Amino acid sequence: MRIISEIQELAKQLHIKSLANKRFEIFEEEKSNTQFLLDCLKEEAKFRLERATALRIKQACLPAEKNFEMFDTQAQKGITDKQLKQLEALDWIDGIYNLILIGPPGTGKTHIALAVGNEAVKKGYKVFFSTMDNLIHLLKTQEISQRSASKVKWIKKCDLVIIDEVGYLPVNRVEANLFFSLISALYENSSVVMTSNKGFEGWADILGDSVLATALLDRLTHKCQVLSFTGKSYRLTHSKKIFDKS
Ligand code: ADP
Ligand code: MG
Repeated sequence: MRIISEIQELAKQLHIKSLANKRFEIFEEEKSNTQFLLDCLKEEAKFRLERATALRIKQACLPAEKNFEMFDTQAQKGITDKQLKQLEALDWIDGIYNLILIGPPGTGKTHIALAVGNEAVKKGYKVFFSTMDNLIHLLKTQEISQRSASKVKWIKKCDLVIIDEVGYLPVNRVEANLFFSLISALYENSSVVMTSNKGFEGWADILGDSVLATALLDRLTHKCQVLSFTGKSYRLTHSKKIFDKS
């Protein structure tokens, strides 16, 4: 019994959580020393993997669980089934390609961005999702807020950064510069996914500066897939009502 407490005390000190929390009976099982050690190590490895995955899911800040299976390519002509499969395979993240989804509201841009994000987190990539608006807020407050600073630090470490709704709200010069600096820092290190309701010709207006917009697009589109979504809003065509018509 003394040995068991000593093992548990040491496991706690060494942060071997699975062993520290092990129930006593398990020590009494008849196992060879090597088998016992192997079982302990396997359990700790599993525990650490689960903990890392849970943390990555939290850090990704994905607001909804959308996936590729839920996406109906019949309803959206801007992407084929084959392209969807290629996106889902995620090889392009290893090749550090970017993905830009452009189109009117309700055409499935955020759905695809979220599906990519969810799949990437599951496969072990470090992901961060944010609306443009929230991202600008984080960048602007990183000097005065520890929370923002640590988020920006995390973004720069991510394999995949998803920026939703670029161009919905105008940004001022300072904000545009902060945004440009971030994209430059991510360039050739992380894949960036962006969604926007405006085509590239409108990005100078979004950023309030055509030179900055050209430099930004130059970096973003160097290795990039642009998908243009068209058609009516899926929300509108599939809108649900509270009351029956009868
Ligand atoms: P956008 O970001 O282009 O404004 P969303 O991706 O938010 O549009 O789509 C609006 C809603 O419609 C979401 O609930 C989304 O899951 C759904 N949706 C859009 N396009 C499709 C599609 N082709 N197949 C299935 N669901 C879709
Ligand atoms: Mg959207």
